[in-house]
Amino acid sequence: MYWEKDVETMDRSALAVLQLRRLNETLKQAGRSAFYGKRFAAGADTPAQAGAAAGMPAQAGGKPAVASVELSDLEQLRELPFTKKDDLRNAFPYGFLTVDLEKVIRLHSSSGTTGNPTVVFHTPDDIDHWGNLIARCMYTTGVRKQDVFQNMMGYGLFTGGLGFHYGAEKLGVMTIPIGPGNSRRQIWFLKHLKTTVIHILPSYALRLYSFFEEMELDPREDLHLRIAFIGAEPHSEEIRKKIEELYGIKVYNSYGLSEMCGPGVAFECECQEGLHIWEDHFYPEIIDPASGRVLPDGERGELVLTTLTREAMPLIRYRTRDLTRFLPGECPCGRTHRRIDRITGRSDDMLIINGVNIFPIQIEKTLMAIPEIGHNYLIEIHKENFMDKLSVKVEISEEVFHGTLAELEKLQSKAAAALRAELGVTPNVKLVEPSSLPVSEGKARRVYDYRGGEEGGL
Ligand code: ADP
Ligand code: ZN
Repeated sequence: MYWEKDVETMDRSALAVLQLRRLNETLKQAGRSAFYGKRFAAGADTPAQAGAAAGMPAQAGGKPAVASVELSDLEQLRELPFTKKDDLRNAFPYGFLTVDLEKVIRLHSSSGTTGNPTVVFHTPDDIDHWGNLIARCMYTTGVRKQDVFQNMMGYGLFTGGLGFHYGAEKLGVMTIPIGPGNSRRQIWFLKHLKTTVIHILPSYALRLYSFFEEMELDPREDLHLRIAFIGAEPHSEEIRKKIEELYGIKVYNSYGLSEMCGPGVAFECECQEGLHIWEDHFYPEIIDPASGRVLPDGERGELVLTTLTREAMPLIRYRTRDLTRFLPGECPCGRTHRRIDRITGRSDDMLIINGVNIFPIQIEKTLMAIPEIGHNYLIEIHKENFMDKLSVKVEISEEVFHGTLAELEKLQSKAAAALRAELGVTPNVKLVEPSSLPVSEGKARRVYDYRGGEEGGL
C-alpha cells in the first residue's frame, strides 16, 4: 500500500522536525545562489533574521560566499519574503542556481501558460528525489511492476513526460514514452500492448474518446485500462467522473509545477478525497493572495511552496498562484501528509465581468453537469458599449443530442440559465458542432479575453 511507509505515515511532530532540519539545509543551500545570496545578505528583506548576514565573508568579486538564514521554528518562515515568478524571469538564466554547472544534468522549463517561460535546473539528486516522488504517487494508487504504463504527456521541456517517465522506471513499470497526440496510434498501443495505466491531460482524455467511437472500439470493453493520472491543467470533479465513466477506470488527480520539480508535488491516494502534498519534500502555506497573510487552516487561498530537498535550485516561499485549501481531518489511507483540495484556478485567471468575479472552472462544472453538452468549450470576453460581454461556446454531445432546432434552442436556454444561476451574470451561450472548437496538444486554452484590444487572455 505504501511506497515508503515510514515517511508517508510519519507522526506529524516527527515530520515537523524533519521539515525544520531540511528547511535550514535548504536556506543554506539557497544562499549559494546569486538571488538569495543577495537577498539574505541584504538582511532588510528578512526580519526574522536580523544579523543573520552579518559577518559573511565576501568573495573576491565582492559577492557574499554563502549568506544563510537559520530558523529555530517552522513558523518563522512566514517572516521571509516570497519568491515570485517574476523573480525567476528576472534572474534568467542562472540567478537561482546554487551549484556549478558541471553538477547540473537537466533543465526543464514551465510551459509558459501565462508569460515567458522560466528555467529550472536539476542535479542527479534532484532527479532522483523527483523520480522517487512519482514512484510514491503511482504506487499509492495501486500501480505495480506488472502494469503497462503509457505516458501521453509531452516529453521535452515540459515536465509531465520525463517526470513520470523516470518515476515509472523507478517503480519498475514498463513505460511506453509515446507523448501526446496521434490518437489512432495511441489507441493501437493501448489495445495491443494491453496498457493498464495512462498519464494524460484531462482535455486530451475527453478528445481521445471520440477516436474510439470513430474506430468502433469501446475502451470499457476492448482495453485493459484500469488507472489514469490526470493533471497539468485545472479540471472539475465532473470532468474526472466523466473520464472515469467513459473509460471504466479510476482517475487520480496529479498536481505539480516545474518550479518545484514538476508532477509529484501533490497526488490523490486511493481514497480520491483531496491530494496529499508531500510534506517531506515541500513545505506548504496558504495565503491571502491580496495581503500575503498566511490564512487559517481550511481557508481557500493561494498555495505557497518551499522546497525542502532541492539542490540545484531551492525556492523559498514560492507563490504558485494556484488556489486551493487544506482539507480538514485525517485521510483514511493512513498517510499523515496533509491534503489540499483540487485546484480551482490560478489567482490570476479570475475573470471580472462587470464587477462579478468568475473562475473558468465554475463554467466548466456547470456545463459538464448537462448531459447533452459535449466535452469542449471556450470562453470569450468582449467589451460592448463599455460593458463586459461574456460568451460561452460549447460543443453539443453527438451521443446524447439528436434533437430538432427547437430542442437545440431549448438546450441553449437551459445552459444559459444554469450558468446564470452559478455565476450571477448572464452569458451568451452558443452551441456548436461536436469537434468544431480548437484543440491543442498541450494544456487546453479555454479563455480568450478581447477586452484589452488585441488578443489578451491567459
Ligand atoms: P505553467 O505555469 O507555464 O503552466 P507548468 O507546466 O509548470 O507551467 O504548470 C504548472 C501549473 O499547471 C500549476 O501551477 C497549475 O496552475 C497547473 N496544474 C498542474 N497540475 C494541476 C492540477 N492537477 N489541477 C489544476 N491545475 C494544475
Ligand atoms: Zn490518503
